[in-house]
Amino acid sequence: MNRKRWIRWAVGTPLVVLGLLVGLWQLSKSWTFQLFGEFYPRVETSEKVVALTFDDGPRAGQTEEILGILKRHEVKASFFMVGRNIERHPELAARVLAEGHQVGNHSYSHHRLVLKSPAYVQEELDKTDALLRGLGVQGEILFRAPYGKKLVVLPWLLSRSGRKHITFDAVSRDDETQDVGLLTSRVMESVRPGSIILFHDGGQEKPGTVKAVDLVLGNLKEQGYRIVTVSELLALGGVAPASTVPPAN
Ligand SMILES: [Zn+2]
Repeated sequence: MNRKRWIRWAVGTPLVVLGLLVGLWQLSKSWTFQLFGEFYPRVETSEKVVALTFDDGPRAGQTEEILGILKRHEVKASFFMVGRNIERHPELAARVLAEGHQVGNHSYSHHRLVLKSPAYVQEELDKTDALLRGLGVQGEILFRAPYGKKLVVLPWLLSRSGRKHITFDAVSRDDETQDVGLLTSRVMESVRPGSIILFHDGGQEKPGTVKAVDLVLGNLKEQGYRIVTVSELLALGGVAPASTVPPAN
């Protein structure tokens, strides 16, 4: 190899590798694109219908407060639960289900399911499925990846068993702030017909979330929105699996 070619190789190869790594990182965190399988950040519809979702619970105190607000607004939401939290609070998980809300799988340990072996990822899915079945969950169990992260193994395992991966398109980012005004405006500015809204009932204590959910539900109803579970939203029809949409973030 002559000197010029060697320099081109020495500079070019790391740049290509870096580009690939940046691309994979972007892909892993995209809310709107997945390599394969059924993937839904929202649903295509002109009807004013949205789904409200809560991640990371159940958590003593916070989940109960959210349940109280949902009952007051007569709304059924969807809770993506972490398996080990179901083990900590089985009575609370059972109460969510008994009050008519949808319950989904948000992994067992809440670790990022990227760069993990297929056996590890499958176990994270199976352990939480078993806990949910133990609570009496019937029919299809929807899945949401911890941190919304996925790359190859997780979508492959989900698609192999015909499972739907649910993300979101209207996020409060209530894991970053508890400013009630900010949480409310973030959701209200991004919500549209067919949206899937994300809040958290687990993790750190979130007094702002509890208040923001109340305000968001009031605002949505004022604007003529109906709030349904994720499965009800998917059943509306006109669903476009988002894996056909190019990456947007
Ligand atoms: Zn989570």
